[in-house]
Amino acid sequence: MPLTWLTRMFPALLLILSGCSDFPRSTPEIDSNNAYILAVRLVAFGKRYSGTEENRKQADFIAAKASEYGASVSIDRFIRRTAAGLIEFTNITAEIKGKSSDFIIIGSHYDIKKIASAPDFEGANDSASSSALLLEMIRAVKASGHVPPVTLRFVFFDGEECQMAYSENDGLWGSRNYAEKLKDSGGIKQCKAVVLLDMIGDADLGVTLPVNSDRKLVEKVLESAGALGYGQYFNMKNIEILDDHQPFLQLGIPAVDIIDFEYGPGNAYWHTNADKIDKISKKSLKIVGDCVLRLVLSSIR
Ligand SMILES: [Zn+2]
Repeated sequence: MPLTWLTRMFPALLLILSGCSDFPRSTPEIDSNNAYILAVRLVAFGKRYSGTEENRKQADFIAAKASEYGASVSIDRFIRRTAAGLIEFTNITAEIKGKSSDFIIIGSHYDIKKIASAPDFEGANDSASSSALLLEMIRAVKASGHVPPVTLRFVFFDGEECQMAYSENDGLWGSRNYAEKLKDSGGIKQCKAVVLLDMIGDADLGVTLPVNSDRKLVEKVLESAGALGYGQYFNMKNIEILDDHQPFLQLGIPAVDIIDFEYGPGNAYWHTNADKIDKISKKSLKIVGDCVLRLVLSSIR
């Protein structure tokens, strides 16, 4: 049946159809199976400490996947003198253009920590879970046909983990470099928020939003979780956590760290051989992923 005939008969239809371009074809939703499979694949790269071949191969995989899912990918490699000598780091940015060129950074580190006391450390939660989820979020947004209100920059930071001890000159290499470049390029004003994900795959999920996060952004995270019926999994915790959101907070950009820093009893699985894929659940990936998608697609303007 020709559309012209239909719209003559039913003028309201024309109105509905003409408005359709502003609406997403479907609401982007996390496929928890895919997120989990991606986490398994990242873990399979092995000892992906910054500066290693394993890290490089993982970076190539992340860039290729993000590109396959339809994001515009750019790679930034830089060398820094660290307590463990010269190391080359790689930040990966995967962008989905929005209606506005203002942007939100959704970040995760993808390096894992080299730990002498835990030679079998796999970093399934710290850092495969959040990095896999970023990739799945890219897939979900692109597959939905949704054009975000603002541009989404998914940034995979290298070098979050320190070589010796976390300090001004050790750790957060990728995020410090990214923030410095943002400042130098005059892009601070256009960056509306930084939503950082870290250690979000724990089957016993309890997100502990640290106090060194932007208050309004924290409220929006809680609002988004509540609207999806996930309120019980998100709380504030009266601790400061040094993480990749910190360099952006220092630039005055609203930033929040979505982290579950109670990984195992008394955080006992953190930075130990226990951080394996069997501790990660598809359900946790979905809860956090859908909450963050809702936040970045609707709540932050
Ligand atoms: Zn860590």
